[in-house]
Amino acid sequence: MARWLFDLLKPHGLGSEVLPGIVLKRASEELGLRLTFAMDGTDLHVDVGPADDATPHAARSDRLVFGYRVGRGEVDAERALALCRRLAELARANEAEVLAALAEDSDRGRIRHVETEQLLEPMGGGDERFYGLSPYVGCLIGCRFCYAPSRLDPLRRLLGLDPIRWGSWTDVRTNAPAVLADELRSRPAAPIKLCPIVSDPYHAVESKEELTRRCLEVLVEHAPDWPLFVLTRSPLVRRDFDLLTRLDRAWVGVSLPTADDAVRAHFEPRASSVAERLETLALARQAGLRTFAMVQPILPGSVTAMVDALATHADSVSLDVLRGVQGAADDFADHAEAATDEWQIQRSNEIRRALNERGVPLWSGELPPDR
Ligand code: SF4
Repeated sequence: MARWLFDLLKPHGLGSEVLPGIVLKRASEELGLRLTFAMDGTDLHVDVGPADDATPHAARSDRLVFGYRVGRGEVDAERALALCRRLAELARANEAEVLAALAEDSDRGRIRHVETEQLLEPMGGGDERFYGLSPYVGCLIGCRFCYAPSRLDPLRRLLGLDPIRWGSWTDVRTNAPAVLADELRSRPAAPIKLCPIVSDPYHAVESKEELTRRCLEVLVEHAPDWPLFVLTRSPLVRRDFDLLTRLDRAWVGVSLPTADDAVRAHFEPRASSVAERLETLALARQAGLRTFAMVQPILPGSVTAMVDALATHADSVSLDVLRGVQGAADDFADHAEAATDEWQIQRSNEIRRALNERGVPLWSGELPPDR
């Protein structure tokens, strides 16, 4: 699916030197529309968006904007800016044709069955390189604070798709297991994160499509020693414990922003209840899997109940604060204090202290600790 991003840059393509010393390495739709270049020994990412986009940008063509963000490492800002300008120039010559073909080809349903050309998304850096794996793009759970739409909306707008409520559409990447099998043969081993960057891997449609399950079958067959991290808000993950236990190192975790189920129901109406998530952790542990919980964002509710639940069911916990209310300002109206940085930091410190007292390991970074 990301091939069209290369088409924008014709006559350049993958591996091509777009400016002296700056080589096109990758195109991806996973974290927003992104072109990745090798430059001065580091990765330079250029985000692409529709020109009606209000996001700041470094250069624009007639219909698109381009802005760079640096991976890990130093980047020469002037060269990065020159690159964005060059990309805008190239796009200006190709975009009418490329965008028209893209819009024409696109299926307009809410559950779209699409093919992907790549699946494992390289992420992180240094000693913490890992791959993101998303069999679906777009999530049917639709949490109110979710930041995935901000990554996915630019492409939907370019495709001319009608704006529809977050939580009511998804793209099913039908060939995900086959693409994964190919990539596992050719990529260096690294941890894989099957987690909701753009979709929960166990949202409703998975019970019928079984794409996540088939990806796990591929991992069991081709990469049983690659660490796997699964994060979900759905009890459906229990169906796959039989496969997860066949991997050498698999972690199963749940997102738990609150222990108060009324608050959970307000912000995550179509996700499983707090009790179901805790039961999932208990069953994962019983099955012999490593367990963890992610508290992000932090939502209102009793700290004591939260810490009790975490200490009872999770081998380790990762804590992070809310990063903006996204489109959910109205939903925070009754919990306005929880949307402030001060409240988030204070609550995070309270939970952290209480978990430390209970001896629960806390972690940050990409993978939970081994046990
Ligand atoms: S489950 Fe995750 S990806 Fe899905 S809507 Fe909620 S926060 Fe977003």
